[in-house]
Amino acid sequence: MRMDILQRLSQILSPDRVTSHPDQLAIVARDESTLPGVTPLALAWAANANEISAVVRLCCETKTPLTTRGAGSALEGSTIPSDNGIVLDLSRMTEVIDLWTDDLQVRVEPGIIYDDLNNRLKNEGLFFPPSPGGSGDVATIGGMVSTNASGIYSVKYGGTREYVLELDIITGSGEIMKLGNRAVKRSSGYNLVDLIAGSEGTLAIISGITLKLAGLPEGRLQSAYKFDTELNAARAVSEIRRYGIDIAAIEFLDRKTMQALNLLKDYGLEEVPALFLEFHGPDEVLRSNNELAESICEELGGSPLKLADGQRPWEIRHYATDAIKHRRPGYAIIRNDVAFPISKLPEIVEYCHQLGDQHGIMVHTLGHVGMGLIHALILANPDNDDEWKRANEISDLIIRKTIEFDGTISGEHGIGIGHKNLFDLEHGPAVDLMRKIKRQFDPHGILNPGKIFDM
Ligand SMILES: Cc1cc2nc3c(=O)[nH]c(=O)nc-3n(C[C@H](O)[C@H](O)[C@H](O)COP(=O)(O)OP(=O)(O)OC[C@H]3O[C@@H](n4cnc5c(N)ncnc54)[C@H](O)[C@@H]3O)c2cc1C
Repeated sequence: MRMDILQRLSQILSPDRVTSHPDQLAIVARDESTLPGVTPLALAWAANANEISAVVRLCCETKTPLTTRGAGSALEGSTIPSDNGIVLDLSRMTEVIDLWTDDLQVRVEPGIIYDDLNNRLKNEGLFFPPSPGGSGDVATIGGMVSTNASGIYSVKYGGTREYVLELDIITGSGEIMKLGNRAVKRSSGYNLVDLIAGSEGTLAIISGITLKLAGLPEGRLQSAYKFDTELNAARAVSEIRRYGIDIAAIEFLDRKTMQALNLLKDYGLEEVPALFLEFHGPDEVLRSNNELAESICEELGGSPLKLADGQRPWEIRHYATDAIKHRRPGYAIIRNDVAFPISKLPEIVEYCHQLGDQHGIMVHTLGHVGMGLIHALILANPDNDDEWKRANEISDLIIRKTIEFDGTISGEHGIGIGHKNLFDLEHGPAVDLMRKIKRQFDPHGILNPGKIFDM
């Protein structure tokens, strides 16, 4: 059976686009989560929708699980394949198919990398805003759509889903179809485009994407503010939003994260909670918005954070996760990306730190807080069973508190395998409806099974 599948894959694609070499399978056995990998049966590279459809049909016939892969930078195990499954890698499908500069729209293949796309668009004065933070140099647009990725600029521009106009998909039975159209305003039937966005490869495989774009801002201004307490920094975020300031990004770094950054890079940062802000627009607007934000920060005891000459807030922020990861050799990060109504930010931040102190576990809080999202990065030793268990319990408690506040388990990374355990708690009976929807798209249950929820 195994040989048969490999042979037939080679016939559909070509022998040089199918492998079962252990070294290559080991790479695609994992994503960027700390979850254990699963070695698939084979790795294959498709070049177009017809090939994808033929591979899907083979999987239906042989009941073989199929996991689509972009760059494998997902953080919750959504890209980890199934035992005896096939990984279908679309990272070679990198073409820009059409660019409509007057409409601010582009049509791409799913494997194009976020930074590469924006480098192409720069010359036209356009960009695709929902930056996936530190993974922009690897994340593919197909992967971003499938996880509804968003990052630092979501405060001003929103997440990936808001930019997807059309999708070419292949369903779980191999049917090729186009969803959506290029109209930006629409009120025509069920929004299947939005359903596929964020579905983590469980409903369909995306072979083409039409995106809405934004004009590159005339100017940018970055500033940084420090606070005595995490609580006041968090309160300032909610106030800045309440004043309706036009702000592109608000990043929060707690005291422990600033310490970790100093340990990694010797930045000489004051080890205090901080907010990094970015504004987009013409010069005068940038200045007046920053002044207003500064006065709000001051009301909450904040003041400008001095950075050494040449240091820029965003470069520092870029290293935050690495800094936490390298803080204790042999330790690993349990992370989450809970999102909630913005007014709850101070309580959530305080709760994360209380839990860390109570359990003697190092909890860092940081993230794109302007939309009411926080990353609690919990540092623990995976070889110490007790510590690892307590760290996971802390993560679950943070998620439970978020759901209590009418928030969500994931604001940007998705559910994958990592956060499946509390999915029912967030969605209740709606999970059954999701199961029925999956059956319609994927009657044989071959598309990335076991992700988001169990059938
Ligand atoms: C350092 C770092 C920083 C990060 N920062 C952010 C951040 O700020 N914001 C954020 O949102 N994420 C962030 N991420 C997570 C990750 O980069 C994003 O989820 C990204 O969108 C994944 O893209 P990818 O190409 O790697 O997808 P993959 O990991 O390859 O796939 C992700 C999921 O999408 C499915 N998939 C991929 N391509 C397709 C397709 N064509 N059709 C159907 N399904 C498909 C896969 O099966 C899987 O379920 C970060 C990751 C790292 C490592």
